[in-house]
Amino acid sequence: MAVQNKNASPNSTIPPDVKDLLLAEYQALSEEKLKRAELQHQLLSFALVAFGALLAAGLQAKSAPIILVYPFLAMFLSVAWTYNEHRVRQIGAFIKYRIEARIGNELGWEHFRTKLTSGLLGSREFLAARGIFIGSGLIAMLMGALTGPITKFGISEIILFVLAALSVILTTVILRRTKIRIKELKELKERDSHMDEDGGRKGLESADVTTIRDETIKYEKQFAKNGYTGEHLGLSILHIEGSTPVVLSAPHAVKHYRRDRSDPEDADIYTGALAIQLASLTKASALINAHTSKEDPNDDADGEYKRQLRDLVTQKQARFVLDFHGLAQKQPMQIAVGTGGKRENLLGRTDLLDVLRNTLKNAGFEIAEDAPGFAASGPNTISSFTRRELGIPALQIEVHKDYRDPRNKPHEYAKLLYALKKSVDEIAETLKKECTSK
Ligand SMILES: [Zn+2]
Repeated sequence: MAVQNKNASPNSTIPPDVKDLLLAEYQALSEEKLKRAELQHQLLSFALVAFGALLAAGLQAKSAPIILVYPFLAMFLSVAWTYNEHRVRQIGAFIKYRIEARIGNELGWEHFRTKLTSGLLGSREFLAARGIFIGSGLIAMLMGALTGPITKFGISEIILFVLAALSVILTTVILRRTKIRIKELKELKERDSHMDEDGGRKGLESADVTTIRDETIKYEKQFAKNGYTGEHLGLSILHIEGSTPVVLSAPHAVKHYRRDRSDPEDADIYTGALAIQLASLTKASALINAHTSKEDPNDDADGEYKRQLRDLVTQKQARFVLDFHGLAQKQPMQIAVGTGGKRENLLGRTDLLDVLRNTLKNAGFEIAEDAPGFAASGPNTISSFTRRELGIPALQIEVHKDYRDPRNKPHEYAKLLYALKKSVDEIAETLKKECTSK
C-alpha cells in the first residue's frame, strides 16, 4: 500500500543501486537532450537552405507561387523546432527536480545546475529561431509580392499569398507559446532558490504564489473528486515515506463518516494537499485519508488509518506526529492547536509546541491553544492515540478556512505553507539533534 516519496532528501543516503539507476537515467536524458538540441540546429539550417533555394528558383522563374510556398514550410519546421524545444526544457526540469534533487550535493549539484541553465539553447537561441522562422517568412511574402507582381496576382496566387500570411501569423503564435512555457519553468526555479536560501522566509513574489496555487489545486484534485469522497480507484490512504522523525497526518482530507451518522462530515479541504506539499518540502513522512470509507480516523477507536499510522511511525522511528484539520469559516481563530487539554499529548515536549508557536507567530499568525472543542482531548483523536498507543508526542493543528482557499486567497495559503514548512523543519532539527547527542 506504500507510495514511495518521490522527493527524498538530498542529504539522505540513497541505496547505491538506486543511485546507479538515477545516474543511468541522467546519462540517457542528457544524451536525448543533446540530440534534440542538434536536431533543432538542423531544422534551422534546413529552413535557411530551403529559403535560399526557393527564393532563387522563384526569382529565376519569375514565379511568385514558388516563393510563397516557403512560409508554409517554415511553419511546419517551427512546429518541429518548438516541440523539441519543449522536450529539451522538460528534460532539463526533470533532471533538476527528479534526479539531481535526489542525488543532491554528493554529485556536484551546482555543476549540473550551471550546465543546465547555460545549456545549448538559452534565450538567445530562442530569439534566433524566432528571427529566422518569422523573418524569412516575411521576406518570402515580400519577394513573392514583388515577383508577381502583386497587382497582377490571379485568384490562385491571391489564395497562396493569404495562406502564406496566415502561416507567418501561426508561426509567431507557435513560437510565442514556447516562451510562456519556459517562463513557467523559470518561476519554478526561482521559487526553488527562495527555498534554498533561508528556508522560505524570503518574501513571496507573485510568481511563487501562482506556482504554489496551481500546484496545490493539482494535488487537491484527487481528494476533491466525487464530491470530496476521493478517487475511488486510487489508494484509500496515501502514505509518503520521508527521512525525518516527523509524521504529518491528514485524516479528514476527504468526507468521513462519524460513528453511525447517515450523512458524512465535510472534508477539511486542502489539508490533503497541504500534507503532500509539506512532506515534499520538509522530507517528513505523511499519512492522508484519500477516499471516504466507513471510518473516521480521528474518532474511531481503531481502523485502517490508525493501523497504518502505527506502521509508519514504527518503520520511520518517528518521534512526533502533527495532525492537520480545518477550522470552519465561522470560527474566529486563525490557527487552533490541541494538546489534549492539559498538554498531555505532548508527553512533556512543550518545547516542540513552542517551536511551532514561535515560527507561526513570526509569520504573523495568531494561535489559540486548546480552545473549547478544539483540544483534541477525545480518547480516539489521532493525537491521543499517538500519545497513548505509540508513546510519542503529538499535536493537533486546525487551520482556518481563509488559509485553505488557494483558489481565492493564494497569498494566505502560501504564507501558511511557508510558515509550516519552517515549523516542521525546526521541529525535525530539534529531534534530530537529540538523536545524535544521545
Ligand atoms: Zn478534522
